[in-house]
Amino acid sequence: MNTFNRIPQTMSIPNRFLQILLLLVPVILMAQNDFRKARENMVSTQIASRGIKDKTVLDAMRSIPRHLFVPEEIASQAYRDRPLPIGHGQTISQPYIVAFMTEVVKPKSHFKVLEIGTGSGYQAAVLSQIVDTVYTIEIVDPLYRLAKKRLKDLHYENVMVKSGDGYYGWESKGPFDAIVVTAAAEFIPPPLISQLKEGGRMIIPVGTPFATQQLLLVTKKEGKVKTNNLMFVRFVPFTRAATGS
Ligand code: SAH
Repeated sequence: MNTFNRIPQTMSIPNRFLQILLLLVPVILMAQNDFRKARENMVSTQIASRGIKDKTVLDAMRSIPRHLFVPEEIASQAYRDRPLPIGHGQTISQPYIVAFMTEVVKPKSHFKVLEIGTGSGYQAAVLSQIVDTVYTIEIVDPLYRLAKKRLKDLHYENVMVKSGDGYYGWESKGPFDAIVVTAAAEFIPPPLISQLKEGGRMIIPVGTPFATQQLLLVTKKEGKVKTNNLMFVRFVPFTRAATGS
């Protein structure tokens, strides 16, 4: 007698499910492994090779699954040497720029860092691996909600996300050891300067929207503010919330 035929029909659905699952597991594991390799490759060929040395930054860039911070249909492009669209006319920065901006603020484990322009949440996730707490503000509400959910689902628990105009900073949580601005402003917002701690560092692209801008390092020592142009960059514009007037 054929024992196979004696298996009750109702058993076949969970069996089929189990079969599919067993087939899928290696596929998922292979994909994860491919992404891990792509990440290793990104760090060695785009980041370390261009002079980023801080081990905490290199480790963070190696560990954050960048492909989960871009729209699913372009996940396969996540580790390319370029910015990518994240919807609403905004972009996730090129990996090297994220690493450069992170290294330049000299992040330490006790730091409280403010980011303006959450976007996908990727830069915040990178910072969260190095510093104590990251506060990040996003002006486009759907992006804010998506990034907040993504950061929560991926368990980046030391990132606080807020919806609003980052021009005013986040006064109740300041002053900050470092401030990272990821949208191009026409000038450095004065509230951000006042929320930067004595001895703190801020990195901000400044210039005309849709042209090249200067990536400025702003330092505050003995109350004096100094700016240094580090390189030319192209960022999406720093927008302002309507005042209603
Ligand atoms: N750091 C992001 C890249 C963001 S692109 C990442 O890792 O993905 C810049 C972001 O700044 C955009 O999402 C844009 O909506 C946001 N932005 C622009 N002006 C802003 C403002 N005044 N306050 C807060 N966010 C702003």
